[in-house]
Amino acid sequence: MSDADVSDADVSDTDVSGTGGADTSDVRRPTITITVDGDACCAMGRCAATEPDLFDQDPATGTVVLLDPTPSSPELHASARLCADLCPCGAITVTEH
Ligand code: SF4
Repeated sequence: MSDADVSDADVSDTDVSGTGGADTSDVRRPTITITVDGDACCAMGRCAATEPDLFDQDPATGTVVLLDPTPSSPELHASARLCADLCPCGAITVTEH
């Protein structure tokens, strides 16, 4: 095969990660732990409305109920950070590991 002939090239190992082909199998994915302060929560419900996979509200008091303190997906990590930013009472803390 000439250098210009790529039609039969095996692309299964093609690097699309932007890492220059580096082995990323040992790279730890960031994790988070979410904590909530029920005493600080003023029952606004922004968290549950924004990310119902992570937060709910107590039906009696309206205060936050944390559904998953250690979500695994990056999308939920981003959502948890957003909820912490949106909470008007500072009742949500996201700790990065
Ligand atoms: S956004 Fe904050 S104040 Fe509102 S329910 Fe959630 S934790 Fe409570």
